[in-house]
Amino acid sequence: MVELKTDAALDAMRVAGRVVADALAAARAAAAPGTRLTELDEAARTVLREAGASSPFLGYRPSFAPTPFPAVLCVSVNDAIVHGIPDGYRLRDGDLVSIDCGAVVDGWAGDAATSFTVGTQRPEDRRLMETTHRALEAGIAAAVVGARMGDVSHAIGSIGRAAGYGIPEDFGGHGIGRAMHEDPPVPNDGRPGRGYVLRPGLVIAIEPMFLAGGGSDYTTAADGWTLRTLDGSRAAHFEHTVAVTEEGPRVLTLP
Ligand code: MG
Ligand code: MG
Repeated sequence: MVELKTDAALDAMRVAGRVVADALAAARAAAAPGTRLTELDEAARTVLREAGASSPFLGYRPSFAPTPFPAVLCVSVNDAIVHGIPDGYRLRDGDLVSIDCGAVVDGWAGDAATSFTVGTQRPEDRRLMETTHRALEAGIAAAVVGARMGDVSHAIGSIGRAAGYGIPEDFGGHGIGRAMHEDPPVPNDGRPGRGYVLRPGLVIAIEPMFLAGGGSDYTTAADGWTLRTLDGSRAAHFEHTVAVTEEGPRVLTLP
């Protein structure tokens, strides 16, 4: 069931969204060659704690997971697509890092992600990240009253396909509100003019993830969480929490 949010709820979600943006910025600022992934998580934890926010990631255990998620931040490096667990790995020059964070403030959730490189940037990584970010922007632009979910999905997927990137079918965006994952699903590819009609007060997390190798197959690592590209190519992931309003799309997870 899809729950449409009031204007007051959107304002409350904006508060949570700003905490998410701050936590991502802190984690990114902590990232450099030699930094342990746990240090990125600690940076995000500090922001959440100081804001009085709780983490919808910490202890999260969906049906596919063998263990509760142990961190407030997902950190996915190079061929890891999403859901990476921050561990003692030390970042190396040239690594492509995707970080994903959620926060709950006064019962309302925000969810966002970004990708960046550490140290020397490969041109192909820059193109992958720029294209994935452009797909996020296109998905946001398509999230207008009266459009259909297929329009959002198509806006994202057409950019990924045109660039020759792979798009995993099983993972994508989602409704969000009091729970981090609500209806409706927001697939990262689809047919325009199909699916759920977007109405004012709908809030969705839009989150393209593209795979540089062009294949869409992935494997789950031994930790039961981390998704890796099957071909070993790198992946990028960008996400914002976005409200559909009469005034147009409102991004709730901007700084
Ligand atoms: Mg997320
Ligand atoms: Mg999400």
